[in-house]
Amino acid sequence: MKAHDGMYIGGEWRPAAGRERIEVVNPADEKIIGGVPAGTAEDVDEAVRAARAAFPGWAATPPAERGALIGALRDVLIARKREIAETITAELGCPLGFSEMIHAGAPIGVASSFAELAASYAFEERIGNSTVLLEPVGVVGAITPWNYPLHQIVAKVAPALAAGCTLVLKPAEETPLTAQLFAEAVHEAGIPAGVFNLVTGTGPVAGQALAAHEGVDLVSFTGSTAVGKQIGATAGAAVKRVALELGGKSANVILPGADLAKAVEVGVGHVMNNSGQSCNALTRMLVHRDQHEEAVSLAAAAVAAYPSGDPLDAATRIGPVINAKQRDRVRGYIVKGVEEGARLVAGGPDAPHERGYFIAPTVFADVTPEMTIAQEEIFGPVLSILPYEDEDDALRIANGTVYGLGGAVWAADQETAVAFARRMDTGQVDINGGRFNLLAPFGGYKQSGVGRELGPHGLAEYLQTKSLQF
Ligand code: NAP
Ligand code: MG
Repeated sequence: MKAHDGMYIGGEWRPAAGRERIEVVNPADEKIIGGVPAGTAEDVDEAVRAARAAFPGWAATPPAERGALIGALRDVLIARKREIAETITAELGCPLGFSEMIHAGAPIGVASSFAELAASYAFEERIGNSTVLLEPVGVVGAITPWNYPLHQIVAKVAPALAAGCTLVLKPAEETPLTAQLFAEAVHEAGIPAGVFNLVTGTGPVAGQALAAHEGVDLVSFTGSTAVGKQIGATAGAAVKRVALELGGKSANVILPGADLAKAVEVGVGHVMNNSGQSCNALTRMLVHRDQHEEAVSLAAAAVAAYPSGDPLDAATRIGPVINAKQRDRVRGYIVKGVEEGARLVAGGPDAPHERGYFIAPTVFADVTPEMTIAQEEIFGPVLSILPYEDEDDALRIANGTVYGLGGAVWAADQETAVAFARRMDTGQVDINGGRFNLLAPFGGYKQSGVGRELGPHGLAEYLQTKSLQF
């Protein structure tokens, strides 16, 4: 795979300050596919300076002009869609079709939405005798994970650019080639030098330096709750704005009277897509105890339609997880589920292939709410089915984790589903299979995070207010 031996800073590829490197591994066959420099605090400092220098000019650029440049960026993402999908499949291991449709497709939609929003957003409002100006926060430090490597970058960069902020991005060490491709796209789109800067590197070195840098005004982080807590503390100590998109353990609540077969099929797909590596994956399926057995057989049948294997093979519907560490972690959870008394109905801890970090699509039945597999984020293709007694019991179980990111409710009618959704402690709920909306605010209740991404709410995260009184 093509790789740049440098950092994208101030509109050009500059040599890294240090000599450390990151090797990029294809998780499907464990082969090294490339390498990038591992940035140091020095690289981060240079990038933040470039972003600071570019800030006044970019903030003063008329929003419609910023929108046009985001539109140009979207056009490059469209033109290079195939290459992006191939790079993501090589780094992440997910099936190529999924990469094209979701990993490369969604960022095009997101960039498009912010191209329009930049031009139409009211960056000024009247409140009584005041005019309120909505001004860009300043320099953004963006830290992103590997599970939706381009989407998570664009979900931060596009609104930041629309708002008039400049950025430094530290992408996940597992997927730096996708980030480099994105930097190329920014360049090709003609976005002015220094507005977007990229420092590849590891979390504890480059990520930490970026979060702590005094030239950064807002830290926007997506990743694990453990690291998010640290970043929140660092930002808090410096009285810096912070946005955190963290983990989840979302509930798929199937109420009596719902279309059980459809609810189970959609629910299984939601967990198996991307090998279970979605922060909002519906990993807990809640079914009335009278329907539990029926749901279990439906789920077992549904996962059988997810053959794992070579991500470039069109028949493959599920690839490996990202690395050996995650594979071992997910296996550990499966073993723990069995130990704690859950009933394994599909999959299990055994490796389905000789090479690659594969986990067999796994389903547990008879899961109880206090079990580890019902409480902790597994981040693998593992579904837990939990029986409930009645609606109040279902609600208690649904709300009974430290997380609150996604969710779904299925019922005989929309009204019943909405009434239940109103009582859920979570940032998003899909009603009877409602589909993902790239404009709806995305973010967490409780320990799933602080702040919202996407659409107008996502844009507001990058703005601060100034009131003029008349
Ligand atoms: P992670 O460590 O939280 O990584 C997210 C990002 O933060 C990466 O860019 C990472 O860099 C960086 N980072 C790590 N330590 C940092 C620090 N001390 N200061 C600043 N930045 C830091 O997540 P992970 O290790 O890749 O995955 C572990 C678990 O996190 C998963 O099993 C899953 O449960 C959860 N996760 C959740 C999401 C989500 O969308 N909610 C996404 C990914 C992972 P490096 O890549 O160099 O480590
Ligand atoms: Mg990490």
